Amino acid sequence: MIKAVSILGSTGSIGRQSIAAAKHLGVPVVALTANKKIDSVEQQARELKPKFVAIFDENAANDLKIRLADTDIRVGSGMQGLIEAATLSEADCVVTAVSGSVGLRPTLAAISEKKRIALANKETLVCAGEIVMPAAKAVGAEIVPVDSEHSAIFQCLMGRQPGELKKILLTGSGGPFRGKSRAELENVTPEQAVKHPNWSMGAKISVDSATMMNKGLEFIEAMHLFGVTPDDIRVVVHPQSIVHSMVELVDGTVIAQLGVPDMGLPIQLAMTYPERKASPFAHLDFYAMKDMTFEAPDYEKTPCLKLAMDCARRGGTAPCIMSAANEVAVAMFLNHRLGYNRIYDCALQAVESIEIVNKPDLEAVLAADEQARVFVREHFS
Ligand code: MG
Repeated sequence: MIKAVSILGSTGSIGRQSIAAAKHLGVPVVALTANKKIDSVEQQARELKPKFVAIFDENAANDLKIRLADTDIRVGSGMQGLIEAATLSEADCVVTAVSGSVGLRPTLAAISEKKRIALANKETLVCAGEIVMPAAKAVGAEIVPVDSEHSAIFQCLMGRQPGELKKILLTGSGGPFRGKSRAELENVTPEQAVKHPNWSMGAKISVDSATMMNKGLEFIEAMHLFGVTPDDIRVVVHPQSIVHSMVELVDGTVIAQLGVPDMGLPIQLAMTYPERKASPFAHLDFYAMKDMTFEAPDYEKTPCLKLAMDCARRGGTAPCIMSAANEVAVAMFLNHRLGYNRIYDCALQAVESIEIVNKPDLEAVLAADEQARVFVREHFS
């Protein structure tokens, strides 16, 4: 089990649940970072007494510094602050729960210090899987996924030999609009889109779950994390979210990981791995359980999933462009400045319009990310 943890993105849904897990396990939280929500961070800092807190926004960081002047807690800011939090010598594990490509540099910095990465930032692998995975391998840094599906696959593969895996069966609930056509979804509001049937999550990922872009991002993430090709992954719609994903082995055996749909479980495992500890979460009751059903995705009705799978095959900066464009589009949708169906249009047009770079380095990845953001702002607002 880990000794101490830094939590990047501590005020978001995963960040708050990571703090709860650390408290339950008795693991000290030595660093926190947030974008600019200093009321929440101040509260967390006073309770947890970390060594260091970083606020990405410079002005907000200055405000927090004044507020925490009566404590020993150091306050940093900007990307430098995030990197410092990610590499703090006291921590042997870093939860990367920041949203978006801002997590990329801190994650790489933590890897170079051989920290365990409890990976909750999808963009890290979607945009830079070809950079991050070899970097982790080179120094022997562990990457333990926090995303429920990848945690499930990770668990199903524990103790397996590399040649034994035949297929990854990536499950997804299908979101709140499963089976609905594009025409039926034309007037969807942010309030409707963030209402996920099974999972309680942040707004951005809830919208991604509704469009199934989330499953597409997870498809790309799985490819990198488990070193497989797009042909080795099959998406399976499983509306009840009891099976969190499965692996099919070469002999035809399928191993599944099941549990209640609570992100607290994969978060705790990322901290206790390879051990298991008692958790405060509900256990599955098979007597009370209703049906479990499985079906193929309808790609006509989930074009974002199809686009992501196409980008996975295209490789290079295509997934990064798609993901960044989607991120901006979702933010605009949540602010009522963009229609629901236009989210897909944004991502598609960005991928079709921006030049895709093959085998990008980190600079090329970040440039593609920025280009996609500018593209969506210029063409869709
Ligand atoms: Mg997931």
